[in-house]
Amino acid sequence: MPENGSDRNPILVDTKTRVRDTLPAEPQSRNGRLQLMCYKYLWDTLVANSFPSGQFFDFFSLNRSYMLSKDIRERTASSGFPAKTLDDVIQYYINTCSMLPTSHDRLLLRYELQKDQSVLGEDEFAYDPDWLKRQIQSNLEFWLGEREASYTPQEERWKCRHCQFASICSGNPFPNIPRGSSSSSDHSSSSS
Ligand code: SF4
Repeated sequence: MPENGSDRNPILVDTKTRVRDTLPAEPQSRNGRLQLMCYKYLWDTLVANSFPSGQFFDFFSLNRSYMLSKDIRERTASSGFPAKTLDDVIQYYINTCSMLPTSHDRLLLRYELQKDQSVLGEDEFAYDPDWLKRQIQSNLEFWLGEREASYTPQEERWKCRHCQFASICSGNPFPNIPRGSSSSSDHSSSSS
């Protein structure tokens, strides 16, 4: 939450851990920003709209009256949400979401070094709903078979060195270089 008591909107923070003490290249940073914007979209949608419990139970073929196990019931009771059935869990979830404020329009990505959790850098940026929508739309078009896959942009063709399709892709500018022979990126994991 922001320090300023007049601003109740929580800031969403995603912490990425890095093996090496370097900040990620732009494509990886962009993925992190996209991921965090998706979190904000999900959060704000849950706050603004009631969770579609009917669709949820139907989609997963769940019995909403199913009685939770004794162990789970004891845990829910001790957590202050004494749910006895799956439906109770969802109702508590919906009630809790309805009491939350929407999240802040500023988002924060933090990069930490895995070995000692020291902060390598922070990337604070503004939520951009139009950009997010375009990204999701473009990906959906591909996954729904409405457009062909496109080559990696020219400035990011270093990715081809690590790509499993490199040997058959005509977009690969390094057809004779074995896969994974150099590195321009770092491994990272994330926790929010
Ligand atoms: S080899 Fe082809 S599919 Fe793989 S990253 Fe390069 S352009 Fe994309």
